[in-house]
Amino acid sequence: MTDVNHKLDLGRLESVDAWGMASRAPGYVYRPVNVEGICGVYSAATAAHKTIGLRGAGCSYGDASLNSEGIVLDLTRMNRIIDWDPQLGLITVEPGVTIRQLWQYVIEDGWWPMVVSGTMFVTIGGAASMNIHGKNNWKVGPIGDHILRFTMMTYEGKHLECSRESNSELFHAAIGGFGMFGAFTSITLQLKHVSSGLLDVEAVATKNFDHLFEVFESRLDDSDYLVGWVDCFGSGSGLGRGLVHRANYLHEGDDLESIQTLRVVNQELPDAIMGLLPKSVVWRLMQPATNNPGVRAVNFAKFISGAKLSDGQWHHQSHAGFAFLLDYVPNWKKAYGPKGLIQYQSFIPVASAKETFKTQLTICQRYGIVPYLGVFKRHRADDFLMSHAVNGYSMALDFSLGNCDRGSLLSLTAELDRTVLDAGGRFYPAKDSTLSASSFQESLGKETVATFRELKSKHDPAGIFQTNLSRRLI
Ligand SMILES: Cc1cc2nc3c(=O)[nH]c(=O)nc-3n(C[C@H](O)[C@H](O)[C@H](O)COP(=O)(O)OP(=O)(O)OC[C@H]3O[C@@H](n4cnc5c(N)ncnc54)[C@H](O)[C@@H]3O)c2cc1C
Repeated sequence: MTDVNHKLDLGRLESVDAWGMASRAPGYVYRPVNVEGICGVYSAATAAHKTIGLRGAGCSYGDASLNSEGIVLDLTRMNRIIDWDPQLGLITVEPGVTIRQLWQYVIEDGWWPMVVSGTMFVTIGGAASMNIHGKNNWKVGPIGDHILRFTMMTYEGKHLECSRESNSELFHAAIGGFGMFGAFTSITLQLKHVSSGLLDVEAVATKNFDHLFEVFESRLDDSDYLVGWVDCFGSGSGLGRGLVHRANYLHEGDDLESIQTLRVVNQELPDAIMGLLPKSVVWRLMQPATNNPGVRAVNFAKFISGAKLSDGQWHHQSHAGFAFLLDYVPNWKKAYGPKGLIQYQSFIPVASAKETFKTQLTICQRYGIVPYLGVFKRHRADDFLMSHAVNGYSMALDFSLGNCDRGSLLSLTAELDRTVLDAGGRFYPAKDSTLSASSFQESLGKETVATFRELKSKHDPAGIFQTNLSRRLI
């Protein structure tokens, strides 16, 4: 047994960061390597009357895996692949396995995760706990739709196996339940068969929101992935201008060099930008331009060059290259400066999405707090209890805290919250830093909140699993 101390080890107090660096909290951090180690941490929590916040790679933008003055149970060292069936594409992993580890392990056998986030550094436990979505959410649903079963260690020491057939209620609540019921200890996923390491990719420049929606809607039926970049500085007839990237799997037999393109080495992101600049220094070069005039100019240049280059031509890109664009520049978040950034992502039903996003950007521009990055996606509803997705669209907005004071930003996001609630939309705990309990609960509805509370008292009656986010929202 590792980490079994049964007494709180005061030497474990660390300052734990939110990914966006806009908040941090002291916590007693334990990193067990197996289930016995988890039990030891539970015992230490009992002995010290402490709560436990579960943590994966800490890639949630806000306070989802912070636990002020409590225990932080970091599962990144439980990172073994338990079982792999390359015929069926079924894999069972420990919760600390990252998406990077996962795709690197399976791709040479012709498989790829059904759902990945914009960064490959998240753990499967963290991904399941937030029920992450990819650029194909409208088509394949969230990661939970591809989880066949998981085992979970409750605080009372029960090791529960959950699936759609067994403990189904807990299955649908814990996936997307932001770590409130217990620690996932193993997760079984169905992967996607791919016959090539390449995707067919098309880029389309979009003049404004009307055009952006048109481009998405007209491509939904024959695309595998769709994602939009929004230049949030565009205004007037250019409000919501940007670029859409669409990608499709190659058909069986299309890639004559599939053995090579499916090799990990041919998926890896380049070490240097434009073959020259080492990636590790790029964020430092970005920093002087990460302010209003700088981002306005860079966005404009990106939009103009995108409009020139993206004339409906297709090109090939590796799966990793397309999926993990945000990983091209390591530590890019540091370009935002020491105050960091927060992200605001809202999910709006189809009927009101366009008007709501127009209103949201107009509000940001009125405040003079313009997001430096806007990302646009299409979604579908799913049957997980705390689902953040709707049949509609989401827009994720990155706000720099170096560019505004926190008070003004909070007033701004409170106005944005109202637009989401009025439209019957949803929020995403993985991205949230600003939401109030009343807005979050209004978005979920009374019945969902009541079911969540019921399940919480059934599986965690002492309320041991908590995080700063859960105390703020529910
Ligand atoms: C650059 C970037 C791009 C992103 N792109 C996307 C995207 O495209 N789509 C998307 O959906 N999300 C995206 N995210 C968000 C990210 O995928 C989620 O926040 C994810 O949950 C992070 O996983 P993690 O391993 O870092 O977990 P953490 O952030 O450490 O924790 C997330 C939650 O999981 C819980 N948890 C962690 N491990 C376990 C466990 N073993 N058992 C039970 N609960 C556990 C924690 O308590 C917490 O509530 C992005 C984040 C970044 C930084």
